[in-house]
Parts: sequence; C-alpha cells; structure tokens
Amino acid sequence: MAKVRTRFAPSPTGYLHVGGIRTALFAWLLARQGEGQFILRLEDTDKDREVEGSAEHLIQSLRSLGIDYDEGPDINGPFGPYRQSDRLGIYKEWAQKLIDAGRAYADPYTSEQVQQFREQAQAEKRPFLYRDQRPENPPAWDGTTPLRFKSDPKSYEWHDEVMGDLHSGPEVIDDFILIKSDGYPTYNFAHIVDDHLMEITHVIRGQEFLSSLPNYLNLYEALQIERPILATMPHIMNEQGNKKLSKRDGAKDVLDYEKDGYLPETLVSFIATLGWNDGTEQEIFTRDELIAKFSLDRVQHSGARFDQKRLLWMNGQFIRQLSLDDLWDRVVEFWPDVANGADHEYKHRVLALAQDRLKTLHDLPTLTSYFFAEPLPDWQMVDSNKQLSKLDRSRHIELLTAATKALESSDFRAESLQQTLNDLLEQTGEKPGILFSLIRFAITWAPFSPALPETMEVLGREHTLGRLQSAVDSAR
Ligand code: GLU
Repeated sequence: MAKVRTRFAPSPTGYLHVGGIRTALFAWLLARQGEGQFILRLEDTDKDREVEGSAEHLIQSLRSLGIDYDEGPDINGPFGPYRQSDRLGIYKEWAQKLIDAGRAYADPYTSEQVQQFREQAQAEKRPFLYRDQRPENPPAWDGTTPLRFKSDPKSYEWHDEVMGDLHSGPEVIDDFILIKSDGYPTYNFAHIVDDHLMEITHVIRGQEFLSSLPNYLNLYEALQIERPILATMPHIMNEQGNKKLSKRDGAKDVLDYEKDGYLPETLVSFIATLGWNDGTEQEIFTRDELIAKFSLDRVQHSGARFDQKRLLWMNGQFIRQLSLDDLWDRVVEFWPDVANGADHEYKHRVLALAQDRLKTLHDLPTLTSYFFAEPLPDWQMVDSNKQLSKLDRSRHIELLTAATKALESSDFRAESLQQTLNDLLEQTGEKPGILFSLIRFAITWAPFSPALPETMEVLGREHTLGRLQSAVDSAR
C-alpha cells in the first residue's frame, strides 16, 4: 500500500476548537504510525470569513501540542504551495478540464432569478435543485460568474472508516459551485483537487461534511481521480451529551487551556480519548502509546461527551507523573508573586509537596502562597465547613490551644509531627476530619493544601506555632 499521507486542512476563520484539534490529532497519529507524512494545508478561500492572525494562531496551537507537520505553509514540500489562495491557477486549470469535458458551465442567473426558481419549486412542493435549471446555452465562462459543476445524479455506496458502510440516492446530488464569481474556488472543489495533487491517502474530517459526500464522489468520477480513504469524525457533544459542543459550553481555545495550567500531554490524551479507546479501560495515554495504539476503526460513531471534570482529573494525573525538575521548569509562570525572590531550595520543597495536589498549574498560588507570606485569618472558611461549623468558637480555640501546646515539644519532622497529631486526636477525642481540618485552616487559611505534617515541616516550627497563635488571637 502507498505510504500514508494525511492532512489537516483548517480554514483560518478563528481559533482552533477541540473538534478541529481532534481531527488534526487523529490524522497526525495515523501518519506517525508508519513512515507516513502529515500535511498542513490552509484553506483560505472564503475571504469573507477569514480572521486576521488565525493562521498563525492555528500553527502555534498545533506546535504547542507537538502535532508537527512535514509539509505546510511554512515548511516547503514537493506539493506546495500549501495555502489555497496561492493555488488559484491550479484550480482554474482543473476547472478548464471539466469545462472541456462538458462537466461545468457558467451560471448565468442573478440571485433574483434563483430566488424565483426556489419559490417556484416550493409552490410545486418539490425540492429545489440547481440541476433542474441548467441553462440550455450557457455563455462561455469568463470568470465573472460562478462556475457550476454539471453533476451526474446517481446512487452511491461507499465505506467510511469510522461510520461504516454508507449509501445515498441520486436526489442528494446537485450542480454545486466550483469557482465563485470572486475567482476563488469553493471548498467542495478545491479540497478534491488538492487532496489528489498532494497524494493524500486518508481524508479525515468532521461530520458536517458527510451530507456533501455524494457530491464529492460525483466530482471524483468526473475528474477521473481515485478517491482517498474517507473517515468522518462524529461531533463532540457538550457535557450533558444533548448538543454539539460550543464555546458557550466552556470549551476553550487550546492555547487558553495551556495558559490556564493544562499540560499539552493532558490535552493530547484527553482529546484522543474523545470518542476513541483502545478497547481496554485505559484512560490515560502518552503520545507514544497513542501512536502505537490508535486506529480509525475504534473511533465511535456517536458523539463523544466533553467532560470538564475528566479533563481536570487527567491533568492532575499527568502533573503527578512529571519529574520534579520537569514540573519546576513548567511552573515558572505560575508561582504567586509572594514567591518572588524566595530561596530556591525552599521553593523546591514547596513544589514537591504541592505536586500531588495540583489539578492545574494554575492552582499553584492557592496551594502555596501561605508558604511565602503570612495568610490572613478568615474564620468564614471554618464556619462554612460542614464539620467544623458544628463546634462553637470556644471549642475551636480550645483545640488550637491544645495543638500549640502539643506541637511545642515537636522536632518538626513530618513523621514525629504525624505522631503528635495522632496523640492529639486521642487526647481531644475529636475525629481527624475536625481536628486536622481546623489546624490546617489555622496555618494556611487556604481552601486546600498538601498533607498536614509535611506542610508543617516545610513551614517550620516558628511559622507553624506563630500561625496557630495568630489564629487563636484573631478568634477572640
Ligand atoms: N477547511 C475545512 C474546514 O476547516 C476542512 C475540512 C476538511 O478537513 O476537509 O472545516
């Protein structure tokens, strides 16, 4: 079989959404499984929808996820240019082939005339089709009017690597526009020419193109080119699974996820498992595992749910697996301001402690600020805690005072601190959920923190005891 060549063909019309990245990722995985190649082609033929800067943004997003391409707008290859607006001459040539073969014609109608045809079809209760209005003697095409495909309506049966065996009837085939009156080709025409010339073996794209597929099959025939292997990705659904995922559901630009402290490896694993699995229960995949295991026939037909909680959980798992040095390099931008200028070695110890609790790198300030600056007591936190709110303030003070006393003689090593805390449980007769939570609040005043004995060890004797005292003072 020919070497696999896949492509990602985005239109530079905005940010790269999760669905787009999944398409790119799957195409990339397929190419990377063998000696294949992955191509980036910019489909910038709809000048009205183009958003300035989005091509660069797209490229940056792919790079940030490590989805590298072998040929593209900024990487020369044998089949360039890779930007459709630089290929207009090529589309003209292919359009001419169709004209010469009697399979394309200049569309002579004004939009008012088309509207009339439409209304007439409606009145006669039949679907409106351009091919019912083919002009008998179309003018020669001079590029000022759209060029339409002269279709050959028929039934098709074809195989889609994801959706399975599909079929369609002649009624869905129509004379669509090949080249618009502004001189740019339509997606419907340009992608077919380009996939052929760029020797693409697998076309992987979103479900929104499925209804046009019979038209594409018709055009492949008219151009006498062999069609590539087709794979259609189902939609990604919102959390409830009842609607297509949109920006309103909180799905962000991939670069924003990274700014918010998600690791690229999390995003890759998460997006790959939106609608794909390897047949086991495994949920987390490294890049190499994905390359080894991915296959189109295990992509589900139905929409996958975008589950934010799973993404967050997965990110925590990936953060935990990083070596401390690696994590250190990645959190540079995330430290709280109060950590500026703090001792290197101390920061390392804090990071080692926080690592297990970080869900995103963005949690770092919440989890660590109190290691670098005195927190302000906030009894509201205690009072809104389900367990602690059952005790009154005097009992809170009593417990913190007992803790101070017990800890005064500790050597402040995590192990002995644990012992002291356990003894304190017995002495006070409280449950860990009460006693330890209270002490934790009193020394961190943070919603969550690493394990208590380790936190105390790193904070040290002076700070720990000092904070317990401040807590008691502020409660009075
Ligand atoms: N330019 C199309 C889009 O951005 C690409 C579809 C395809 O992959 O063929 O939706």
